[in-house]
Amino acid sequence: MVKLFVAGGCSEHGRNSFLVSGDKITVLVDAGRMKEKPDKPFPEISPEMAKKIDYLFLTHSHTDHTGALKHLQELGFCGTLVASAATLKFLPEKYEGRTIALKDISSPYKEVSICDGLKLTFGRAGHCVGSVWYSLELEGKTILFTGDYEERSYAYDCDEIRGRYADLAVVDCAYGTEAEDAEAHWEALESALDALVPLQNPLLFPVPSHGRGFDVMRLLAQRNVTTVLAQSLIREYQDSDNREFWLKPSFVEAMRSLKKKQIGDFRSDFERVLQEGAMFPREHLDAAILVRDSQLVKEENRHIAVGVAAMGGRTILTGKQDPASFARQLLNEGKADFYRISVHQNIDEMKRLMAKNHFKKVVPYHCREQLSFPEEEILVLQTGDTAEV
Ligand SMILES: [Zn+2]
Ligand SMILES: [Zn+2]
Repeated sequence: MVKLFVAGGCSEHGRNSFLVSGDKITVLVDAGRMKEKPDKPFPEISPEMAKKIDYLFLTHSHTDHTGALKHLQELGFCGTLVASAATLKFLPEKYEGRTIALKDISSPYKEVSICDGLKLTFGRAGHCVGSVWYSLELEGKTILFTGDYEERSYAYDCDEIRGRYADLAVVDCAYGTEAEDAEAHWEALESALDALVPLQNPLLFPVPSHGRGFDVMRLLAQRNVTTVLAQSLIREYQDSDNREFWLKPSFVEAMRSLKKKQIGDFRSDFERVLQEGAMFPREHLDAAILVRDSQLVKEENRHIAVGVAAMGGRTILTGKQDPASFARQLLNEGKADFYRISVHQNIDEMKRLMAKNHFKKVVPYHCREQLSFPEEEILVLQTGDTAEV
């Protein structure tokens, strides 16, 4: 018999982790850490469970999927780690045990045997560089994990999940009952930008690492907006392992025409005006500035946000803000706008994906809301629950 144990990530946000056990083989998909509840940051995995795990499949590098790797090793995990080469490269801690990079064994949609009783198919999930979905056939049962999944990114390529059979599918539903889908979000952000371009006043985009920053870069390139990129974002783009594989060709093309200003020049001009008692350098009034600091934690980026607001410019937030963050404070004070860039699915998008596949049972994950569904095949599970596959 094959069972799915939710070690974390259902009816909560963070510590995503799913244990699938058969008679002979045990696999874990993701090992995340939850930031918002420091008293229980790790998945509910006992040392006995950790020692039994033969394979750990990671969907992508974000902390809510990988942040418990070290903890898992401390519990006794010593199995094989499987992930894309990009995910392995971005891991917060290196894994000393055996690892398999997906590109060394397979390619999108191609089924391969991992060991006796375990087959794997993967595809790119459109969420960030290195992000994948998995379909695992374990001891005769098929379990699909979408990982964090987005089909409409402007930057990341997605191998759409279509016509696939699964006895059970764990599907991204992070945006839950939110009404707007990815399409509506793009429309809102694009028309807001169109109203501001050509820029009279500066814009600030605080973005996370490995995510929406690239989408924003594409929007700015298409509108010929002069862009100041944080050094870490430039590195992220240049270092993207095998980037032609993960990024859309149209995005890579757009990056060639991105009008860039040197971040070093911007920073020194900014320091100078601060010393002179001014708020923002006049020579950069027509620029969009991207900093890799989505919540505006760093003092230097907060100064830029304050300067941008003082010049009549806007800070544009594209993802959720932590309640106590400076980003949220700006929004509350009317100095920032929030236009979401979708990197997950809402309920409607999850159901559309179900309609295009043959999933016998569906477990929504990544949503902190308490969801309920009339459909019998959708199982709303909590962390700690087990489902028979
Ligand atoms: Zn993610
Ligand atoms: Zn996630």
